[in-house]
Amino acid sequence: MAYNDQNIFAKILRGEIPCDKVYENDYALAFRDIAPQTPVHVLVIPKGPYVSYVEFSEQASDVELAGFMRAVGAVAAELGIAEAGSRILSNQGEDGHQEVPHFHLHMLAGKNLGRMIKPIDK
Ligand code: AMP
Repeated sequence: MAYNDQNIFAKILRGEIPCDKVYENDYALAFRDIAPQTPVHVLVIPKGPYVSYVEFSEQASDVELAGFMRAVGAVAAELGIAEAGSRILSNQGEDGHQEVPHFHLHMLAGKNLGRMIKPIDK
């Protein structure tokens, strides 16, 4: 999918709209989700133009990949969630209900999150 630089996270990266920043390095930005689904709900996004984890994994440089993953650890440290635990997920594409077409990880924490997914009807 072609990257659309008018998506809301691209606007946040350009400083055109504000965010509640938690952490930033050269390759990633982390900020609080505007509609948190858990007591702690932070989004981590790469600074490069990647629609999904698939594109990011395939197309990002090693430096970008490393910088992004270092940011994830730094966010966990910043939020103090490592000991109690957390969950990271990334929605991708139609079946994944991805709403914003700029790759992001959801970092969810702050309570017992229960099992990851409910049993599904096959
Ligand atoms: P999804 O693309 O489905 O993985 O989810 C996109 C997430 O972005 C949702 O959890 C939204 O609440 C969140 N979101 C949308 N706009 C903003 C914004 N301006 N600032 C922070 N979070 C946002």
